[in-house]
Amino acid sequence: MKKHNYSAGPCILPQEVFEKSAQAILDFNQSGLSILEISHRSKDFVAVMEEARALVLELLGLEGKGYQALFLHGGASLEFLMVPYNLMKVNGKAAYLDTGTWASGAIKEAKHFGETLVVASSKSENYNHIPKEYTIPSDADYFHCTSNNTIFGTQMKSFPTTKIPMICDMSSDIFSRVLDFTQFDLIYAGAQKNMGPAGATLVVVKEDILGKTGRDIPNMLNYQQHIDKESMYNTPPVFPIYVSLLTLQWLKNLGGIAAIEKINNQKATLLYSEIDRNPYFKGTAAVEDRSNMNATFLLVDETHKDVFDAMWKEAGISGLNGHRSVGGYRASMYNALPLESVQVLVDVMQAFEQKMN
Ligand code: PMP
Repeated sequence: MKKHNYSAGPCILPQEVFEKSAQAILDFNQSGLSILEISHRSKDFVAVMEEARALVLELLGLEGKGYQALFLHGGASLEFLMVPYNLMKVNGKAAYLDTGTWASGAIKEAKHFGETLVVASSKSENYNHIPKEYTIPSDADYFHCTSNNTIFGTQMKSFPTTKIPMICDMSSDIFSRVLDFTQFDLIYAGAQKNMGPAGATLVVVKEDILGKTGRDIPNMLNYQQHIDKESMYNTPPVFPIYVSLLTLQWLKNLGGIAAIEKINNQKATLLYSEIDRNPYFKGTAAVEDRSNMNATFLLVDETHKDVFDAMWKEAGISGLNGHRSVGGYRASMYNALPLESVQVLVDVMQAFEQKMN
């Protein structure tokens, strides 16, 4: 039986994507060959890459607006350093918003390249909210933020306006909600939440921000090289890209980001209402900053942990434990998680309440 999969990433993908990608491993496009054994330069795979790159821009509403979509290796973590390598001028500086473990990871890498200014941080409150009052220096080379903080369950509901390029790590909420994506000059995301399996990283970059740093950038780390080579500078992660394409097609057929956003809002409302109603649970993130992707919560009385854990496992739920650094529970409700799975969790929380009463 398929589990109700709340894993934070890698995570649930649409069932039809699993089925189609399994088929492509056996026989891709009825070619008599597996997708795993053909050249990345073959006509069939080049078509996959072209469609995936185009579909990313289409879904984000960025077609014809000077953006390029790239599928790279190295995870979002490599982007932590590719961003400053490609965008921080020699003797320049960059501004960062520190909203969690991943944001602070990006800050650490930027420091290798030059002055890295943290405009605000919620670290002292264990990253339970998104700082709102801060100033972005107009002479920084770029501003970097993290739209969704996977570990702490907070999400930026709005973004600052600034004249300098805005860079956003959208690893855990890309394609989940409607935003004006033109406000960002570079977006990056590891594939393994809303897009596909681990192994590919999506980078969407406005081409005219590149080439201004005066740095000598090694080819593999140079966005312009990857753009010039149409995202095939070296052998790309072919299978993760193919599975990503299938997920993007699934999203488009569903009605795109606006359609999935409605479902995501329903899921989040259902779960947060229960967390707030049920006296045995409490949320950990500031209400106005709660993530629609990762809901973090605690048992009011931790001594009941064994009872609750046994109940959700019995109901076929998987992956509900919080990140090892924070504990508690985290329900990751990515695009492919059905509303019914959230209902199952809410039912378990209510059954737990009854048992305790
Ligand atoms: N940024 C965010 C917001 C993340 O959630 C993660 C991983 N969970 C990362 C960066 C790191 O991604 P990767 O493992 O692909 O390097």
